Formats: sequence, structure tokens, C-alpha cells
Amino acid sequence: MIYFDNAATTKPADSVVKAVCSCMEENFGNPSSLHMLGLRAQQIMDGARKKIADALCTAPETVYFTSGATESSNLAIRGAAGTYGRRKKRVITTTVEHSSVKEAFARLEAEGFEVIRISPGENGEFNPQDFIDAADENTCLVSMMLVNNETGAVLPVRKVFTGIKRKNSEIVTHCDAVQAFMKINVKPDELKADMISMSAHKIYGPKGVGALYVRKGIRLLKQNLGGKQENGMRGGTEAVPLIAGFGEAVSRLSGNMTERTEKLEELRKYFLEKAEKMDGVQVNSTASAVPYIINISLKGIRSEIVLHFLEEREIYISSGSACSKGAKSGVLGEFGISPALEDSALRISFTHENTKEETDEFFAALEAAEKRLRR
Ligand code: PLP
Repeated sequence: MIYFDNAATTKPADSVVKAVCSCMEENFGNPSSLHMLGLRAQQIMDGARKKIADALCTAPETVYFTSGATESSNLAIRGAAGTYGRRKKRVITTTVEHSSVKEAFARLEAEGFEVIRISPGENGEFNPQDFIDAADENTCLVSMMLVNNETGAVLPVRKVFTGIKRKNSEIVTHCDAVQAFMKINVKPDELKADMISMSAHKIYGPKGVGALYVRKGIRLLKQNLGGKQENGMRGGTEAVPLIAGFGEAVSRLSGNMTERTEKLEELRKYFLEKAEKMDGVQVNSTASAVPYIINISLKGIRSEIVLHFLEEREIYISSGSACSKGAKSGVLGEFGISPALEDSALRISFTHENTKEETDEFFAALEAAEKRLRR
């Protein structure tokens, strides 16, 4: 099997599976319990929280566990709007966000907020000044992703948030860093981000667990009503085994990012050379995209048809413009990719463990697809 769909999810690492299982078998206590078993569960969570905080260069008290990045972003956006948006009704985001952010803003709009959605320019790049110009004294929140999940484009979050804070330091900033965390540098202080969403299953961790970084002093209107877990930020018994797995996933990736990036850059270069040589292939990602997400089109052949052709050969990728079950998200169009290319877009997403041999096999299969399907 060749798995080139790591932006959708990653295979949990062996040590992650072990951490989850041993927690379920040996440490099943409720962290809110006052006895020994509860204390042990609490210690496991504290350990995982510290690992995530260390990776962000922040304090453990700023990391809150959630059920995944979708919940993190909902809490960040709706929570901040609930606190800071009582009088300030303008919020700003981009047109290329993941559905978890996009829909949270659509709900705010339905509730009476003025939502400003900034698009990339014709070259597919965002102009930070567009955000800064849009921010006024009536603005309470700006949310912008760091790495786009469909193209791998890196958005100028640091420049935007720095400019926004300079103009009006009261505006709260949120970044969906799901496709960036543990892959490129994600540090709240450098990004000037007040909140950052993360997910474990994109970094060889378990599904169903994520985290939200919240800068000290930022107050969010609680969304999960219930108990006082997570320092009162999110009600509900914590998923301790998944949190243990999340901590392990972060821990095993800590300290060797440069090495992994070098491998990925080499693989991307190799992939792009092969793509250039193949007739009918167009690369949709730009040169400045991250090395681990590449969007291409096999011109004139619908994504789903190619995807299933490859699947029969045990090669797994995503259709390039899908946020869920093949539905077109419109994000590629926002990046200036034509409707015809969008219909045939394929997303290939690597881990550092993928190889050139796998890339060779992928292109051999893609050539077979081209011959068979273009008839
Ligand atoms: N944000 C981005 C950019 C993503 O790629 C994803 C997952 O595909 C999410 C958010 C949602 O993360 P989760 O599956 O943890 O809810």
C-alpha cells in the first residue's frame, strides 16, 4: 500500500497506540476523582499538556484539550465572539479556511456579525494590508489558517497578526494550525496569535482529540456547557487515553523537525520533476507551499475517477478540492485555479517516511490512469 493522504489523517505511530492502550488498561481513572486513580489520570494529562506547551514554547496552563481541531476552532471563534463581540460586531477571516472555521463564521453572520472574508490576489498570495485595512475599532476577531489543507499554501499569519495588533491591540487573533503543527514552526508569540487550533490525528496521534492554545488573559464564552474540566473552559470528562496518545505523538516528533523537513523537501523536488515530465499533469501548488502537500491536476479527467483507479492499485490520495466526501469546497478557485483544473485536482500529502520508490510507483499508476481513462 502507498499512503499519500497524510493531510486527511496519519497512521498512528506504534508508540502512540501503546500509550493509548496502556492508559486504557492501567489508568482508567477519571481525572476529576479525588482518589489515587484520579490523580494518576490527572498526571497523565498534565504530562501531555506540558509536551504540547513545550512544542509551542508556552506555559501548560495555556493548552486546553478538546475533541479535535473542529471543536478547538468553534470554541475559539464562537467563544471569542461571545465575549468580545457584544458591542464590536466586525470579524475578519479568509475565503480559504477549512469548513470548521468557515461554518463558525457563517453562524456568527447569521447571528448579526459583519463578516469580512479576504481573498488571495490573482497570484494566489494574500496581501497582509487587506486585513489591516479591514480591521477597525468595531472589530473583535481575526482568524486565519497557517497552512492550507488543499494546496499547502503558507499564509502570512505573522505579518497579518502583527499588523492587526499594531493597529488595534484589543483585536483577538486565532490561527488554525492543523496542517502546520509539528511540521513547521508554530509559536504563538512569534505569530502574535492569541489562540491556535491543533489536532492529534494529523501528526500520527489518535483521532478525536485536539487542543486549543489560549493566551493568558483571553476570556472565551464556554461552548461545551457542563463540568469545570479544563479550568472551566470546556465541560466534559477528558479523553485521557487519547490525550496520552496526543502527548506521545508530539513527544516523538519533538527535536527533529529540520531533518524531517529536509527529507520532505527532497521528496517534493523528486515528485515535481516527475510531474513536469508527465504530459497532462499540471501542478496547482505554488513553489512557496509546504513540501508535504502537493496539489496537481490530471487535466481533463475527474478527480474521483483517478482516485478510485489508484485505489484499486492500493495507492491512496485525496481528490484535491474536497473538504468532505468529495464535495467541492471552492478553495482552489479562490487560489486562482480554473474550474476545469479544480474538477481534476488531486492532493498528494506525504510524511517524512514516504519514499522516492513510492513516488515512482505513483507516477507509473498515474500514467496507466491517463492511458486508460483518457480514451
Ligand atoms: N483545519 C484544517 C486545516 C484541517 O485540515 C482539518 C482536518 O482536515 C481540521 C481543521 C479539522 O480537524 P479535526 O479533524 O481534528 O476536527
